[in-house]
Amino acid sequence: EDNRRESLMIVSGYAAKFFHESLLDTDEGQSIGLSYFKERGFNSETIKKFELGYSPDQWEAFTGEAIRQGYQEEFLVDSGLSVKRDNGSLYDRYRGRVMFPIHSFTGRVIAFGGRTLKKDKNVPKYVNSPESEIYHKSNVLYGLYFAKRAIRDEDNCYLVEGYADVISVHQAGVENVVASSGTSLTVEQIRLIGRLTKNITILYDGDAAGIKASLRGLDMILEEGLNVKVVLFPDGHDPDSFVQNFGTAAFKKHIDDNKKDFILYKTDILLKDAGNDPIKKATVIREIVESISKIPDSIKASVFIKECSTQLQIDERALLSELNKMRQAKA
Ligand code: ATP
Ligand code: MN
Ligand code: MN
Ligand code: MN
Repeated sequence: EDNRRESLMIVSGYAAKFFHESLLDTDEGQSIGLSYFKERGFNSETIKKFELGYSPDQWEAFTGEAIRQGYQEEFLVDSGLSVKRDNGSLYDRYRGRVMFPIHSFTGRVIAFGGRTLKKDKNVPKYVNSPESEIYHKSNVLYGLYFAKRAIRDEDNCYLVEGYADVISVHQAGVENVVASSGTSLTVEQIRLIGRLTKNITILYDGDAAGIKASLRGLDMILEEGLNVKVVLFPDGHDPDSFVQNFGTAAFKKHIDDNKKDFILYKTDILLKDAGNDPIKKATVIREIVESISKIPDSIKASVFIKECSTQLQIDERALLSELNKMRQAKA
């Protein structure tokens, strides 16, 4: 009920403060966590704004202090901050990680992502809060609280993969940026953006996983009736590494030069694999028409059919009849 939710948000807010102070005011936090963030190019203002933190590399540093401060075990466990051992005692979920608090739409801390500093492949890179009464990860976008005004003002939302992408892009002055962290993009997340703007630009990582996720995301966004563009980053780069390595101007230029509407994007990606094989090419065309068939607005859909016809040099009527077939199959 509401009381429990409030208690969970209070303990999460306390934890964010604990991790933030541990980052800035302890020797361990400064030498391990703060130096890591500085090396990544995050400045002090950014660290403060996003309430970045550090969880001490001990089993009970946070849990012990929280209990001494009077926080109840029930809420420590249910918020996911502490984990219960078989013998009933509690230990810290996050140990020796840099901490990214996740804020609700109204700015309350509701969850965390914690990044390891170890290179060890057997350690998960990120540990995220489990689902709770205050954190339904499919309904949350990382960075939305800090981005919402800019999304409205710019009438566009940049969608990135990770925490660091949001932070670096935001720090570079592009504040209309969010990430679907800890999950692949959901319909609920798209609807959340849709209340602020009808325009989404996908900026996913330039690797195979990023491309695959972008194609999936693109269809979902179209299905929700929103407009979608995609910018591909060079393989091995993500928005964070790009903007930190090449600077804000180069980042904005890369977006301007490489922004593609979904037809052009899909065509480029799929045709690259198809080469000159006519059968493969036909499959590509069908896949693009399949995406168009997801657009609820039929006038918009017919505009895209025209574009598709021009770009692929296919008779518009053939595309339209394919579109109608797909529409009927769905109805
Ligand atoms: P970094 O730049 O810190 O190395 P990243 O954001 O580029 O991290 P990716 O591997 O591209 O990391 O993953 C994108 C996002 O997916 C992460 O920011 C995180 O939210 C989520 N993620 C990655 N690995 C895991 C994991 N092992 N468990 C849960 N979520 C993860
Ligand atoms: Mn990735
Ligand atoms: Mn990265
Ligand atoms: Mn990445």
